[in-house]
Order: sequence, then structure tokens, then C-alpha cells
Amino acid sequence: MFNALIVEKNDEGKTSASVQQISQDRLPEGDVTVAVEYSTVNYKDGLCIGPGGGLVRTYPHVPGIDFSGTVEASDDARYAPGDKVVLTGWRVGEAHWGGYAQKARVKADWLVPLPEGLDTRQAMAVGTAGFTAMLAVMALEDHGIKDGPVLVTGAAGGVGSVATAILAQLGHPVAAVTGRPETADYLTSLGASQIVAREELNETVKRPLEGETWGGCVDAVGGDMLARVLGQLKYGASVSSVGLAGGAALPATVIPFLLRGVNLLGIDSVMQPYDNRLRAWTRIAKDLPMDKLESMVQPASLSDLPQLGRDILKGQIKGRVVVDVNA
Ligand code: NDP
Repeated sequence: MFNALIVEKNDEGKTSASVQQISQDRLPEGDVTVAVEYSTVNYKDGLCIGPGGGLVRTYPHVPGIDFSGTVEASDDARYAPGDKVVLTGWRVGEAHWGGYAQKARVKADWLVPLPEGLDTRQAMAVGTAGFTAMLAVMALEDHGIKDGPVLVTGAAGGVGSVATAILAQLGHPVAAVTGRPETADYLTSLGASQIVAREELNETVKRPLEGETWGGCVDAVGGDMLARVLGQLKYGASVSSVGLAGGAALPATVIPFLLRGVNLLGIDSVMQPYDNRLRAWTRIAKDLPMDKLESMVQPASLSDLPQLGRDILKGQIKGRVVVDVNA
């Protein structure tokens, strides 16, 4: 028997989440059984702990879109008992039981070996949000980061915090956009050289082009803010579009693309092929300072998750939550 956060749906369609003891034969099919050590709290987890937001396929459900741990049993030649592994993506925690449990069973294809230089706790301090931040930075690099500050929106959140730390470590001046002025010291400690108030960028686009200001952008917010940023990029600069914490609509014009040659790069962490995942994790181990990562972490246990799920949907979490499933 082991502990898991189970989300159930009653006959009226109402969901509830609680920590329960369950047996191993309830785990879904897969080639590798993992003794989970850590998981995290991401925006999608907030949805899946609650009514699911269309992400969860069947109930009862175990959320947790990422985890790290040790292989316990494997039918796949790539993994043996004792191997340390990390999982992000592949709709685990949505369409398949995820990391909010002391055990998980998944397809071997979805795992990557724990990268050298990271332990299982650090890997989940990074988690899906940090992995996505690295993909976003790599996409900017592939298209060329221009001179001038690189903007990070939703900076005090999970993706934003890690993106800020990585970009600063790589030597880029970082302008961190936040709606929480009280996080300014935290963002500066991660390496931000400039704090931009959310209100400055949240207004609807009035002029399709403004002053050329940003050498690139990692955008976790979308909506009006992304539309506004497109018109403020330097000639030929790019935005890595990661999330929609501020809305899914994009009230922009084509003018920045036509007259400034800017690029809007879509970042999807879920369906990344193995080689890309390994490349991103290797870069994380190399380019993300571990002391800064540590300063982003808030520890949690399985029983904290129902509240944390509500908090992340309200944009109230600072940095990264690391869930010790054995705590
Ligand atoms: P967090 O909740 O940790 O961070 C989001 C941040 O966005 C908040 O902390 C807040 O930052 C800001 N924000 C929240 N609401 C608003 C609003 N209404 N207007 C403007 N800013 C707002 O989430 P994550 O960092 O984990 O994820 C961010 C987004 O990225 C989510 O939409 C998530 O679904 C998406 N995502 C996408 C992935 C992919 O593969 N593409 C992978 C992981 C996440 P502040 O207080 O500093 O303003």
C-alpha cells in the first residue's frame, strides 16, 4: 500500500481531493514502476486537483504532471531498478496517473535519466515550469537574442522565476514583469536588473508599434500583455510564448511581424522528443545556479496539495513548490 492524492468525482459532478492509501494493483499500465520522491505544483496541476478543466480523462485520478524518483521495476532495457529518473509531459497527471503518489507506473519513453549534476529534489525544484523556461530560452537563442534587456513576464511565478535566473546567468540583462511589487527583492536576487510593473504592459494595444525596447521575451502571461510586447521588441527579436496566465486571446496586429520582422515562438513542453528533453535537462544542470534555484523553493507534502492547487490558479505562488511525497 502507498499514499496518493486521489481526486474523485461524485454523482453531481463535484470533485474532491484527499490523500488515501491505495494498493499497487491500481496503478495504470506501463513498462516502468517508479518509487516517486518529489513532484511539484504547476498551473495544470491546479486545474487537475480541482474540476479538471477538461484535462482529466477519467476519475478517480492522481494528478501531478511531473515527478522524480527511483526505478523500482522495469520491463524496458533502458531502465533498471535503482536508476534515478525524471518525468515531465506526455499528459501524465492528466490522461494518466501522475506524480502525487509514492508510486507511479509509466511508459519508459516518457522518462529521462536524472541528468548529472542534479539530485531528485533539485530536478523537481526545476520541474515542468523550469524545464519549460529552459526550452523557452533555447528557442530564443536559436533565433538570436538581440542587444537590450530580455523581458520575462509573470516573473515571480514558476516559469518566470527560472527563466529570470537562467537568462541572468547567461549574461543577459533581465527585465522582470510582475504584478506583485513585494517580489522585487526576490526577482533582483534571481538576477533581474530591472522590475517592470504589470500595469505598464497590461493595457490593450493602442499603437501597433512602440519604441524598440526588448532584445527578446519569455512570456508566461499571453493576452493583452503579449500583444503589447510584440510592438516593443527590437527589430528581428523573438518572444517565446509559454503560457496564458493573463488570458488566451491575442489582441495583436500583424504590423510588428511585417515592419519589425519579430518572431512569435510557441513553446510546448508536453510532446518534446527524448533528445530535446535530454538537451534541455543537460543545459539546466549547467546553466541554472543551484543557490538561486534553492531560493525559489517552497516545500510541501501531499496533504498541502488541495490548497496549493487553488493558490496557483489565483497566481499566488512565488517560485516553485516542491512536493515531498514521502513527507
Ligand atoms: P505560476 O502561477 O507560477 O506563474 C504565473 C505568473 O503569471 C503569476 O505568478 C503572476 O506573476 C502572473 N500572472 C498571473 N495572473 C496574471 C494576470 N491575470 N495577468 C498578468 N499576469 C498574471 O504558473 P507557471 O509559471 O507554472 O505557468 C505559467 C503559465 O505557463 C501558465 O499559463 C501555464 O499553464 C503555462 N505553462 C506552459 C507550459 C508549456 O509547455 N507551454 C509548461 C508549464 C507552464 P507575477 O505575480 O510576477 O505578476
